[in-house]
Amino acid sequence: MELLEIIRNAGIVGAGGAGFPTHKKLDCKAKIFIANGAECEPLLKTDQYIMQKYSEDIIKGIEIIGDHLGAEKKILAIKKKYRKEIENLKKAIDNLRARVELFYLDSFFPTGDEHVLVYEATGKIVPPGGIPLQVDTIVSNVSTIVNVVRAIDGKPVISKILSMLGEVNRPTLVEVPLGTSVKRCIEEAGGAKIADYCVIMGGPMMGTIINQEELQERVITKTDGSVIVLPPNHNIVNKNRVPIKHIVNQAKSACIQCEICTELCPRFLIGHPLRPHKIMRTVAMNHNEEKILREALTCCECGICELYACPMGLSPRLMNLHLKEELKKKKIKFNANNDSLEPAMMRDFRKIPVNRLISRLNLNLYEGQKLAELKKVSAKRVSIPLKQHIGLQATPIVEVGDVVAAGDIIGKMKEGELGAYIHASIRGKIIEVTDKIVIEDERSGVVEC
Ligand code: SF4
Ligand code: SF4
Repeated sequence: MELLEIIRNAGIVGAGGAGFPTHKKLDCKAKIFIANGAECEPLLKTDQYIMQKYSEDIIKGIEIIGDHLGAEKKILAIKKKYRKEIENLKKAIDNLRARVELFYLDSFFPTGDEHVLVYEATGKIVPPGGIPLQVDTIVSNVSTIVNVVRAIDGKPVISKILSMLGEVNRPTLVEVPLGTSVKRCIEEAGGAKIADYCVIMGGPMMGTIINQEELQERVITKTDGSVIVLPPNHNIVNKNRVPIKHIVNQAKSACIQCEICTELCPRFLIGHPLRPHKIMRTVAMNHNEEKILREALTCCECGICELYACPMGLSPRLMNLHLKEELKKKKIKFNANNDSLEPAMMRDFRKIPVNRLISRLNLNLYEGQKLAELKKVSAKRVSIPLKQHIGLQATPIVEVGDVVAAGDIIGKMKEGELGAYIHASIRGKIIEVTDKIVIEDERSGVVEC
């Protein structure tokens, strides 16, 4: 079977981002292949663990994918502070006689942003609103690469490794079947320390915040990598709850046009025409300058402008998110002109050190949390969404009453459609088929949620 077919059949999507189907992403040729081992969000340890434990798989996967792409350069970009992981990866390179270069990153945020990473590792600037392939480069997260190697061994994507941290009694790494409830994951971390809490799915800068009611429904999907439990009045939570009307009013009354949001914006710093201070002014003044508003389409939503830069506590990122939705409704796209791009002269002095970011975010309390050894968690019931990826929802191919084994395909997309296969993550009986497929292991009388 061809590599792309193997990847498609295993249901692999980008594990570290929005979940772009990997068989589509790799359906091309590129001169450079970069494995993203930056894990740039503060506190998270999932990719670090994967690089330590699966170093040979990662190097093997980089060789396989790089050869498939016809890449002349195969690079693994990793933070230079990950000493143990670097040691293991170097050993794996030697053992496999691989032609993989390690590229060492400083510990700043957001090193893992594809555009920033490509610039750091190659000196090339991906066009604003564009993708790395436009500069002959493909980037894949290290977890995705491990999934490709597992797929070659006949193992589809049915579980996720997660960092469980924050206000939990036993911060830990867990591996859970896809479709396991987030509540169950929190229990596996000893439960929440506080009665009232919120959860960030993903990192503190770019993750999604969910409250306890929403938590009832939320399950682990292919793109999750961490669960952070925080008090409901934490400043990160409060920031994300501000309604857009309020954000606009704040921009009108409090934006002092200091430009710090722009000066520290990582996309602006690599030369993209993204100027959040101008966007804030344009919206605040009710100017309909579409050329400036369109710049919001190039924002990677990293959050530096609102969680780190702005001295007035304003939210350019949420403003950009709102504008993106509005522009999408009007089918307006960002049109990159062909001007050559130049990084900002001061870029090297404006990178945000992760430790300073942690202080600013008021996360020092959790920074030193040592995560317990990985615990493999089994589940008696899973609720697997048919859409965990960019593209169309998968079409179910099972019915209520069917009995499936872990790894069986339960959802497919049609030939040529953008999407991903979905597999049963546990053995059991199908008890619901809607936009999700619920499987219960009927061999036990007690069903865990
Ligand atoms: S940093 Fe804040 S106050 Fe300064 S220009 Fe940006 S949004 Fe306005
Ligand atoms: S969130 Fe703010 S800092 Fe980050 S890319 Fe967007 S505008 Fe720039």
